[in-house]
Amino acid sequence: MKRTAHLAVLSLILLVAALVSGRALADQAEFRWLEDSTDRMGIDDVRGLAPDDWTAFDADQDLNLGFSDGAFWLNVTVPPQPANRVLEIGYPLLDVVDIFWTKDGEVVQQYETGDTRPFGSRPIYHRNFVFLVPSNTDTVSAFIRVKTQGAVQIPLKVIPSADFLAGEQLSYGWQTMFLGIIVALALFNLFLFFTVRELTYLWYVLTVVAAGLVQLNFHGLLFQWLWPDLPVINRYFTAPIIGLALMAATMFSIQFLAVRRYSPGGYRLFQVLLFCSGLSVLYGFVGTYQTGIVVVTILAAVATPVAWLVGIYVWCRGQKLAGFYVLAWTPLLLGHLILAVSKLGYMPRNFLTETGPQIGVAIEVILLSFALAYRINLERRRRLKAQEQALEIQRRANLTLEERVRERTEELQRANKRLKSISLTDGLTQVANRRQFDDKLHTEWKRAVRHGYSLSLVLLDIDHFKSVNDRFGHLVGDDCLITVAAICANEIKRSGDLLARYGGEEFVVLLPATTEEGAARVAERLRNTVETSSMYPGAQETPVSLSISAGVATMKPEPDGRPEELVRRADEALYGAKAAGRNRVMPYQEAQTISERNS
Ligand code: GH3
Ligand code: MG
Ligand code: MG
Repeated sequence: MKRTAHLAVLSLILLVAALVSGRALADQAEFRWLEDSTDRMGIDDVRGLAPDDWTAFDADQDLNLGFSDGAFWLNVTVPPQPANRVLEIGYPLLDVVDIFWTKDGEVVQQYETGDTRPFGSRPIYHRNFVFLVPSNTDTVSAFIRVKTQGAVQIPLKVIPSADFLAGEQLSYGWQTMFLGIIVALALFNLFLFFTVRELTYLWYVLTVVAAGLVQLNFHGLLFQWLWPDLPVINRYFTAPIIGLALMAATMFSIQFLAVRRYSPGGYRLFQVLLFCSGLSVLYGFVGTYQTGIVVVTILAAVATPVAWLVGIYVWCRGQKLAGFYVLAWTPLLLGHLILAVSKLGYMPRNFLTETGPQIGVAIEVILLSFALAYRINLERRRRLKAQEQALEIQRRANLTLEERVRERTEELQRANKRLKSISLTDGLTQVANRRQFDDKLHTEWKRAVRHGYSLSLVLLDIDHFKSVNDRFGHLVGDDCLITVAAICANEIKRSGDLLARYGGEEFVVLLPATTEEGAARVAERLRNTVETSSMYPGAQETPVSLSISAGVATMKPEPDGRPEELVRRADEALYGAKAAGRNRVMPYQEAQTISERNS
């Protein structure tokens, strides 16, 4: 057991030692460079140069020479040990990479590649430029001619193939994971766009796709995967896709931040950015590659902090979602800023400058996707609130309406009641009027027919009323009518009986289920009360004496009989009472007997 442990520790030490020594030996390779600004030198020219004509450099410090129209020559001297090494140039966007391996001053191997040549021109099918060190036994020297219109960044490495492969596993794994993130988020938000039909999602998808393509292109993967035999596309892809990514991101920012509402100044800035990035896309196609790259690089370096600052401003103005935006934009901006600065040659190229923007993009698109999801929630809550408010307003409106309807209905009911009573009451005396009497007579007549009882009617008329009017005036006459009506109403108490003003100074009393004797008694009581009452109508000092004459008629209504007959009989009886000297009650039978006797 102990022995195994010892063995394990020992082999670990040996492994580390081997790795370290391998690296140490690899580091013994010598790196030199020189600029051929006229671009006239060939392998034969540089091969013969003295060591002083070259500038030595440290491979740990990547060569970063900015932009140049000339060509650069690199010279790497590789000692024979350790065996199986590769030389890697870790920047895939170099236009021309020609490598000449020499041994003892003679060219033993040569390749002409670069991203202006088909992908197959590389000896090892890899997104970067990777070459096998051709000898394990002799010192060899590589002369590499590099020419590019883009940024001249030449990260050179000579490392054991095993180390290269191990690093490659990680690096390629990260690249495919990045691709996965981009594809998943783009698809997911594309579906959201189709569901929600809101342009912000489409701009987001375009931003994600364009930013993803920019990154994959920087790492040489699009060339490798999509158009290995068409290197001309590389010339027209890099600058326009960056411009396009800037356009999409600007459109997304305008929509997502609602910049127009929260910051008119920021909106104008975004419009300028949109215009410039649109122009840069066009220029990428028609202008020179070098200027195109410089333009989009500067644009990206300006646009990113501007967008970030507008995001912060809008956030401070109370746009909640802008917080997410700033949070998501920060790593991306940092990454892009670092990349832009490194591309312009102000910063050494290292792991951070190369992978930083890509990590930034990944974090950004994930955070923004969260923000978009949160936005749905926010919108939903806002909509619910608006809905509740609308409902509340409607509820209140309904209440007011109901209240008003109720008031109006009550008013109407009161008015109807008043109208009805007006239409059924005599305006002067406040007893029932002729119409109410007619209605009542007909209903009582039918009822009497149904129940078989008799119906009596007393018709009374004030005696010599004309002379009252003549003596005291019409107004006093009116007062007398009111008083007589009140006296009669006071006497007619039985429910079912009805006192009505029949017209002029005539009143009528309808007495259902009453015999002729009963009716005559009621009439006599009325007559007596009027006669014995002292009336002081108007401002009258001396009392006015009145008397009434009454005709009484009683019938047992038959189904085919007419109620008007009862009125006619009562009228006839009244006529009899007047004829017999007034101030008396005359039943119909008696009036008939008298008239028969007289005729
Ligand atoms: P008699 O019935 O006893 O025969 O005599 P009269 O004078 O009462 O008879 P007549 O029917 O000729 O006159 C009725 C008078 O009643 C005529 C009119 O001046 C008076 N009269 C009718 N209606 C009203 C009224 O509403 N107000 C007043 N002040 N007088 C009225
Ligand atoms: Mg009369
Ligand atoms: Mg009269």
